[in-house]
Order: sequence, then structure tokens, then C-alpha cells
Amino acid sequence: MAITDDVLVIGGGLAGATAALAAAEHGHRVRLLTYKQSTLRHASGLIDVLGYTLGGDGPLSNPFTALEDLPERHPYSLVGREAVRDALHFFDAVVGDTYAGAHTNVNALVPTSSGSIKPTARYPAAVAPGLASDPRDCLLVGFATLPDFCAPLAADHLLDTGVPFDVRGVTLSFPGIRRDDAKVTRYAHILDRDEGVDIGRGTTSARAALAALVREHLEDEARVGFPPILGDDNHSVVRRDLEERLGVDVFEVPSGPPSLPGMRLEDRLYEALEAAGVRVTTGVPVVGYEATDGRIEHVLVDRKGQDVPYQAGEYVLATGGLVGKGVRSDRDRVYEPIFDCHVDHAPDRYDWFDGDAFGDHPFASFGVTVDDDLRPLTADGGLEFENVRAAGGVLSGYDFAAEKSGSGVSLATGFVAGDRAGAEVSR
Ligand SMILES: Cc1cc2nc3c(=O)[nH]c(=O)nc-3n(C[C@H](O)[C@H](O)[C@H](O)COP(=O)(O)OP(=O)(O)OC[C@H]3O[C@@H](n4cnc5c(N)ncnc54)[C@H](O)[C@@H]3O)c2cc1C
Repeated sequence: MAITDDVLVIGGGLAGATAALAAAEHGHRVRLLTYKQSTLRHASGLIDVLGYTLGGDGPLSNPFTALEDLPERHPYSLVGREAVRDALHFFDAVVGDTYAGAHTNVNALVPTSSGSIKPTARYPAAVAPGLASDPRDCLLVGFATLPDFCAPLAADHLLDTGVPFDVRGVTLSFPGIRRDDAKVTRYAHILDRDEGVDIGRGTTSARAALAALVREHLEDEARVGFPPILGDDNHSVVRRDLEERLGVDVFEVPSGPPSLPGMRLEDRLYEALEAAGVRVTTGVPVVGYEATDGRIEHVLVDRKGQDVPYQAGEYVLATGGLVGKGVRSDRDRVYEPIFDCHVDHAPDRYDWFDGDAFGDHPFASFGVTVDDDLRPLTADGGLEFENVRAAGGVLSGYDFAAEKSGSGVSLATGFVAGDRAGAEVSR
């Protein structure tokens, strides 16, 4: 007997979680099936809608105006500009005051750990006091045991970009950690629990010790930026506590993987899924399917070596791109491994890349081609299956890294795919 739901979402990243939440709004039984960790654990937690045009122009001030000029097969063109706005409103309601940026159409300019400036549409509240448009002087604090964020170098690079404020960087010893290879979650938990740390002349609480260290270096700056390690479960308490102790605004500078802001967003999304009554099954891969007359009857899930059928009326494929393993390649072909949906690519693998390392690489936009209802299309333009929609990184037609559009596309297409799957079940 198959496990039966109304809507089955495959993939538990930003696209899949959004699709499941949007489908659940229709009041149906929704299940989300997911296998390994999503890219949220590596991504910055920023929601980029569109930072650069396909031609590389930017940073774009208003991403919504630029959406009009995208090619017809771009995922944003398929769902339309209003759907992108609706998806962002939906996101704003899910994340509440943990995110900022909803007050304007204009991209915010966020300093990153390399000292570059990134255009983004929504950003964690902890990032907000660090915006590059803010004229207040700034101190960046890095830690010797966290070499990925070199605060003095980031400060120099920021100054080179012409930011309207003065910025300095210092490297300190994080109280309680001496090992280079400590996980970022270890830093966060020390601050979450305000653990006692040895400061050489006795033990004191971690937040007090950190604030005392930073205070020694603070001059007239009105804000202090840290790598994104300021707590996990008690993140807002940690940040507020440091602000009170230092008497200045405290912010986090988004940085590379692993990413606590991404993990915090993932936690928020999964809390919302639970509250919406979505049934979540994790750690199991979908490995195949049965179809009749162009409709999926059920998918097969590998549970400890056994193929277990999961059935639904409508399916959303949100398995990610080449990183999430929703799109795969071998020497001869690029393919979508669950439904074997068509993935357009040149027959010769040497044509998948551009000779220039920073060139326009075809592989960057490999994925499933869909119609304007987000249903995957065959090579000759027919429907693969009537009751499957695709969302997020598995889609073709956009290059998230070049455009700075990754989370925005996952959010917009996840929202539309889930909403339409839910509406279809209601018919
Ligand atoms: C290092 C890095 C940094 C990034 N930084 C940013 C940024 O700053 N701003 C931004 O907007 N975007 C950023 N992105 C891009 C953005 O994170 C992604 O575009 C987006 O999160 C993709 O979401 P998704 O849900 O489509 O796919 P994914 O997050 O890849 O999720 C796919 C999920 O499907 C699951 N899955 C795959 N196959 C199966 C199967 N057979 N059965 C069951 N489950 C399966 C996977 O295990 C995974 O959990 C970054 C990406 C990376 C890799």
C-alpha cells in the first residue's frame, strides 16, 4: 500500500520548503520528502532576487525593473514579476522579524566577508546594521582561529569599493576557542549558552569576555561587524547582549560555507512546515516512479534498501541543481535522475564549458526546461508528465552565481509550483 498525500514535494531546500508551505495553504495533505542537506547550509542566508543582468551589468538598484528584460525562458519570466513579489511577501510572513528588506523594492548593498558588496533583496535582521549605504564608521572583528574571515583585509577591500564610511579590521582570539578547526556551531553555542571561559586570570562568561576584548579596540565606531557566529538558538539574545555591553550596533558579515544564517533560515522554514501540518520525511532518496497515461502514479523511495511507494495527486520536483544533485552529469550526458526529465545540453562535453574561467559557462544554467505552468517539457516541447512541476535549482535558463538570483528563483518558483499544485488538487 502506498503512503498517500495530496501534494508530494521532493527536495527540502528553499524551493521545496516554500512549495510545501504554499501548497499547504490550500488546506490539503502535503508531504515533503528530502534526502541530504540542502544548499541552505552553505548559502549566506541572503535572498538575492537579481543583482546583475545577464550581460553582467550591475549592481542593480531595482531588481523588479530589470526582471522585465530577462529572456522569455528565464524562470522569472515564466512566473511573472507579480509572482516574484507575491513570493517575497509569502517569505516575509514566514520569517517575520528575523529578516529585513521588505520595506523597499530597492536592493540593499551588503558587505561580505571578502570585502565586496553584494546586492540583495532580503537579509537577516542581524545583517541590517552593516549595510554599505549606512554612513556610520565601522569596526570589523575577525578571529585568529577563523581564517575564512580576515577582518583587516575585508576592511581594506571595503574602503577600495568607495563605501561612505571609515572601516577598520582587527583580528582577536575568540574566548574559549584555541583550535583552528572548531566548527562554527561551536562558536555559536559558546555564545548561546554564555559559557564560562578561562581568560588567564580566572573564568568569566563568554559574552562578557568577548565584549571586553572588542571594547579595547573600539574607537569612535558606531557599529561592529562579526563573522556570522553570534549564536544559533539564542541568536537575537546574543546580539542584543553584545550591543548592550559595547554600546554600539552589532551585526554579522555574511560569509561562505558552512553558514549559520543559512541554518537559522532552514530552522525557521522547518518550524513553519511543522506549524502548517506538512508531513516531513527526511534522509530518504526518491529513486524512481511509476506512471500511467502521462501522469505519475507514485514515486519510489529507498528506505533501507527497500523501494517504498509514495503516492499523491500532484508532485513538485525541487531537488536542486548540480550542487543539490537534482541535476547530474557523467562523461556523455547531463540528466535529471528521478523522472529522467529532458535536460538540454550540447552533445560534446567540451561545449559545456567556456574556455575562459570567468566566461559564460553553459553548465551553469543546465536544468529542466518547463512551460509557464512550471511543468517539465520533453526535448520536442511536449509535457513530460501532467502532474509534475519543477522549482528552484533544478530549473534551466538562469545562472544563479552570475546573476545573484539563486534564492530568489527558488523562492518564486517554489511558491508558484506549490500554489498551483495545491490549486490543482482543489479542482
Ligand atoms: C556556496 C553557496 C552559496 C550561495 N550563496 C547564495 C547567496 O548568497 N544568495 C542567494 O540568493 N543564493 C545563494 N546560493 C544559491 C542558493 O542557495 C540556491 O540557489 C538555493 O538555495 C537552491 O535551493 P533549492 O531548494 O532549489 O535546492 P537545494 O538547496 O539544492 O535543495 C535540494 C534538496 O533536494 C534534495 N534531493 C536531491 N535529490 C533528491 C532525491 N532523489 N530524493 C529526495 N531528496 C533529494 C537534496 O538533498 C536537497 O536537500 C548559494 C549557493 C551555494 C552552493
